[in-house]
Amino acid sequence: MRIFFFLVCCHLALGSGAAGEPRPDKASRRDVFLITIDTLRADHVHCYGYDRVQTPSLDQLAKQGVRFTQAFTPSPITNSSHASILTGLLPSAHGVSDFGVPLAASHLTLAETLKKRGYRTAAFIGAVILDSKALAPGLDRGFEFYDNFPAQSETKSRWGRVERRGMEVVQHAETWLNAHPAGPHFVWVHLYDPHDPYEPPPPYSEIYKDRLYDGEIAYADSALGHFLAYLKKQGWYESSLIVVVGDHGEGLGEHHEDTHGIFLYDSTTHVPLLVKLPEQREAGRTVEAQVRTTERLPGPFLVRRIIRCALDGLLCGPFERKASSLSRRRSRNSTICLPTRTNSRTITCHGIRECRSCVKYSRS
Ligand SMILES: [Zn+2]
Repeated sequence: MRIFFFLVCCHLALGSGAAGEPRPDKASRRDVFLITIDTLRADHVHCYGYDRVQTPSLDQLAKQGVRFTQAFTPSPITNSSHASILTGLLPSAHGVSDFGVPLAASHLTLAETLKKRGYRTAAFIGAVILDSKALAPGLDRGFEFYDNFPAQSETKSRWGRVERRGMEVVQHAETWLNAHPAGPHFVWVHLYDPHDPYEPPPPYSEIYKDRLYDGEIAYADSALGHFLAYLKKQGWYESSLIVVVGDHGEGLGEHHEDTHGIFLYDSTTHVPLLVKLPEQREAGRTVEAQVRTTERLPGPFLVRRIIRCALDGLLCGPFERKASSLSRRRSRNSTICLPTRTNSRTITCHGIRECRSCVKYSRS
C-alpha cells in the first residue's frame, strides 16, 4: 500500500525537522506501528458494515482515525503483498512474485529508511511464510530484530512451528518494547489468525462455531486490542501513527475459490485500511475513493513529496489534504493486481479495477 509508505515518509520527514537530516529531533519523534492482519476481507469487519462479527478494536481505530472504504492489495499472496507494503512498490517492481523469492537489496524498505533516521525497528510475524530465513528472504532488511521461527521446532503441532496465535505475537512485541523503551519505534506486527485452517481458540470457537473464519477475525481483533491497550498503558498511543491493513482477503467460495492466491476479485483484493494519526487528527474521516495502486511514484518523486511534507510544517498536512481530496473523488481510480497463481504456478495477471466491484480488464 503505497499510501502507507507515503504517510510514514511524511511522518518521518516532519519528525526530522528537515528532510535532509539523518536523525530526528528527539522531542518531535513519534512512534510508528504497522499491524497487518492476514486474510482479512474488508466486508467481514464490523466497521465496514458487517454486523455478524464483533471487532471493537478495529472499530475504535476507525472512530479515532481515517477509514479507507476502497483499499486494494496489489497481490493476494502474502509475501508479495507484504513486500509491497514495506517497499511501496508493486510486485512487478519489487519482484517478490511468490514464496521464497527474495526481495532484492536494491529495493529500500521502510524499516531501512526509518532505521537510518534513528528509529528502533522490530518485526513480529505470525506465520513461517514470512520467516526471512525460509520463505520470505529480504523482508527482514532494516529490522534490528525480526522474530523468525526456531530452525528446529520441538513440537509437531503447527502452533509454534509454523504459526503463532495473535496473542503470542503481540506479547512478543510487547516484551521487545519493554526491553527497548526508548524510541522512536517502528514496529510491525503480523496477525495471521484469519488464514485457513480456521481454528479460533475459545470462546471464539464457540461463539462463532458456525462461522469459524469470522471467529478468527474476532480473535485477531482481541489480540489487536491487547496491543492497543499496551500502547495506551505505556503512554504511546495518542502520539503514535498506527496503521492497520489486511494483506489480502479470502474467497470463501466466491468465484469457486475457497481461500486466496488464484483470482483477483474483490473477495481477495479488497482489504480494510485504517490509519490513526497522532493526536487522533482526522478522527472519524472516511475516504470513499479507491486507493492504490496504479500511480507509479519513482524514488525522486517520492523524495519530493517527503520534502514537501517537511516544508509544510504541519504534521501529516499533505496526507490530510490528500484524504480530503480523495473524499470528494468518485471511485474511478484503477488498481493493478499481480501476480497470482494457477495450478501451483505463479503467473502474471493484470487486472484494472476502474469502478466499484468491476474488473475492467485482465490478461495473463
Ligand atoms: Zn496473507
